[in-house]
Parts: sequence; structure tokens; C-alpha cells
Amino acid sequence: MLDTAIIGGGLCGLVLARSLYRQGRTVALFEGRERLGGRILSVASAGSGLAMDLGPTWFWPDTQPLLKSLIAELGLVDIPQHDDGSMLHLNDPEKMPERIEGKNIHEGAHRLHGGMGRLIDALAAELPPGFAHLGHVLTRVSDRADHIVLTFAAEDDIVDVEARRVVLAVPPRLLTEQVRFEPELDDATREAMRDAETWMAAQAKVIIGYDRPFWREAGQSGNAFVTHEQAVIGEIFDACDADPAKAALGGFLALSPELRESFSAGLPMLMDNQMAQVFGSALEQGEQYYQDWATEPLTCSLLDRNPSRAGHAGAANPMLRRTQWDGKLYLGGSETAPRSAGYLEGALEAAHRIERALNRVRPPIEADASDSLQIGQRRGFDQCREPRPVQGMGRRSGRCGI
Ligand SMILES: Cc1cc2nc3c(=O)[nH]c(=O)nc-3n(C[C@H](O)[C@H](O)[C@H](O)COP(=O)(O)OP(=O)(O)OC[C@H]3O[C@@H](n4cnc5c(N)ncnc54)[C@H](O)[C@@H]3O)c2cc1C
Repeated sequence: MLDTAIIGGGLCGLVLARSLYRQGRTVALFEGRERLGGRILSVASAGSGLAMDLGPTWFWPDTQPLLKSLIAELGLVDIPQHDDGSMLHLNDPEKMPERIEGKNIHEGAHRLHGGMGRLIDALAAELPPGFAHLGHVLTRVSDRADHIVLTFAAEDDIVDVEARRVVLAVPPRLLTEQVRFEPELDDATREAMRDAETWMAAQAKVIIGYDRPFWREAGQSGNAFVTHEQAVIGEIFDACDADPAKAALGGFLALSPELRESFSAGLPMLMDNQMAQVFGSALEQGEQYYQDWATEPLTCSLLDRNPSRAGHAGAANPMLRRTQWDGKLYLGGSETAPRSAGYLEGALEAAHRIERALNRVRPPIEADASDSLQIGQRRGFDQCREPRPVQGMGRRSGRCGI
């Protein structure tokens, strides 16, 4: 049996998995997608090779100590967000954009050279092969007194896994909609989970590569806001590499998930037109990379598609940090953090909190003989990929007794 099962291979789950693995615990990570990273997603431009962040881009080293020290520990290089030059504001599609001077709107934000995906690659590189089980979508969590049984939908099969402790490093709202708890969690916890908006889940983001940073050459920062009624991209920023020869602008779509869906065929052209309208014709026909997070069922819950709150919560409801089922079940993910909830920093806060709690319950040095696996003899979960049929059940099912 696993000592700890972590569900969700985003930043929170991965950081926790790495720490517990280093402690020698029998731990495994299960991720619903066929890739790690969750909301962190960087793709390489086919043209320039520039890493384009389609999920998170920024962190703030002055106020986010956990992320700052993780980046340093992993030996990654960060670069300040380019903010120099004038900002543009287009409020009337019939007019030229207004030029605004002296606005440093990103408040000391930094980016990762090579994209935020470098963080995920560096963390994953420290885990042994077979440690992370991709394509395992959690559907049920069952309390069995001294352990928990997890049920996953995986490659047309249903797979059961037993663990003494379980960490759900998954946005809480998704859990309320997609995972059955047996027994059901209490009403107050379920309400807090439903209230925890999955930060940025309903957003769509585009990064557009260009031959040169034309805007910088014109004394502009690349920052722009488009606020008229037909706005397609509402907020634009410079997304160049440290070497600005790899030039790009990034933007957040101004359209709702429903409008994005209905305009999907024409969106590339609409986004191009918008960039040219704001910055000039040199920006026609860039190389577009687009991600609509609202269409990702492992990020955006049905509730998230209609965000109720305009601002950012900052601190999550403490109910989300209560341990469930006599200390066996932990809710994680950035949306449970007491500060920076929803941000990358919040994902690290949550991972550290749960690590501390697990170590209180069972200090790492006491990896005891009752574990079927000793330190250094970890088995991959891959042997469970072919589940054994369970007699008398109407579906293919398997139980993985690690
Ligand atoms: C467009 C966008 C821009 C952003 N910009 C920034 C930014 O600039 N700075 C910043 O700090 N933050 C930003 N964020 C937020 C940041 O991405 C998140 O705070 C962070 O990535 C959360 O990490 P996490 O591990 O808590 O959750 P996630 O990354 O959401 O990871 C959860 C994981 O659980 C998996 N999962 C879900 N359901 C199941 C299931 N049933 N079974 C198995 N696995 C499941 C998912 O596939 C995912 O891998 C942005 C987010 C988006 C979408």
C-alpha cells in the first residue's frame, strides 16, 4: 500500500511529490492529463523557438519568497517583465490608441527565461521513471478506516489504488463536480470548495510571435488595453525573450467563453486585426499560439465558466485547510492557500503546508517496516497499468496494491 498518493501533477502536486520522494516515502503521483504542469503550459514557437507561456507568466520576487527560492534552488534564470516605454489604450475602434507615459503596470513582475514550463521540467526531472502516472482521472475517493481507496478512469479501464494518506492537489471546485466522496464531505467543506473560484480558469490567452519587437522600436512597452465594445484581446503585454530578437506579444481575450466558442473559426483573424489596430500594420500575421482554458475539463469547472467575483480572493477559506477523514485526506492546490491563493506562490504555500502536516503525523525518518516497500526499493505504478479483473464485477477493474 502507498504511504501517500498525490492526485494532480500541477505545481502543488509536483513540489509535494518531490519533497516526499526525497524523504524516502512510498509515494506516487496521479495526473489526469497526459502531461504534467496543470495550468503551467509553455510551448515553443515553431518560428523562433521562443518559449510561449499559455498559462502563468509572472511571479513577483519581492513578495513571493517561496517561488523565488524554488527558482534559485532549481538553478533557473528569471528576467524582469519588460515595461519600459509608453502604454497604449484603445477605447474607440474608429480612433488611434491613446499613448500613456510612465506606467509600470506589472509592479516588478519577473518571468522565467525559457518559460514557466522550465519549472515543471526541472521538478519532474528529479522524479524516477514511472513515478508519475499520467492519464489517471480520479473519479472516487472512499474512506476505509485505516486507508483510502482511490478510483481512477485510466485508458478505458477503472483502476483502484490504496493509500494511507491522500493529497488532492486539484482545484477544489473541480473535485465537487467530478469526484465522488464516500462518505460525502461535510456541508461546510463542500460549500467552501464550491466557493473557491479556480483562478484564471475561464480565461483564454494568446501569444503572438513577430520578426522584430516593432513596438519597442517605436518607444512603446507593448502594454496595451483595449476597452471598446468589440474588443477581442483586452490586455496586451510584451512577451519577448531576454534576447528581444525572439519577439512576441501576449494577450488575454476580452470575450466570454461562450463568445469565444461561437467565434472560434474567425478568432485568429480577429486577433490579428486587433493587434494591427493597436500597434500598426507591421503586426499583421504574427505566429499565433492560443489556449482557451475554459474548454479544459481538468482546469475549468462548470461554476468557473461564469466567474462571480471581479477581483482576486487572496486568502482561501480556512475550511479548505482542514484535514478530512481522521487525518488521511488533505485538500491542496493553490486555491487552498492562506495567502496568494490562486497564484503559483499559493500552490507552493499549499504544498509546504501539507508536507508539514504529513511530517507531523508521521515523521520521515520513521519510514517503518510495515511499509511493503523500503527506501530505495520503490516500485513504479506501471505494473498496475494492466489491471487484474475483479470477479463478479460488471466492468473491468483493477486494484493496485503497492
Ligand atoms: C491563463 C493563466 C494565467 C495565469 N497567470 C498567472 C501568473 O502570471 N502568475 C501566477 O502566479 N499565477 C498565474 N496563474 C495561476 C497559476 O497557473 C496557478 O496558480 C497554478 O498553476 C496552480 O497550480 P496547482 O498545482 O495548484 O493547480 P493546477 O495547475 O490546476 O494543477 C492541478 C492538476 O490536477 C489535475 N487534475 C484535475 N482534476 C483531476 C482529476 N480528477 N484526476 C486527476 N488529476 C486531475 C490537472 O490536470 C492538473 O494537472 C495563471 C493561470 C492561468 C490559467
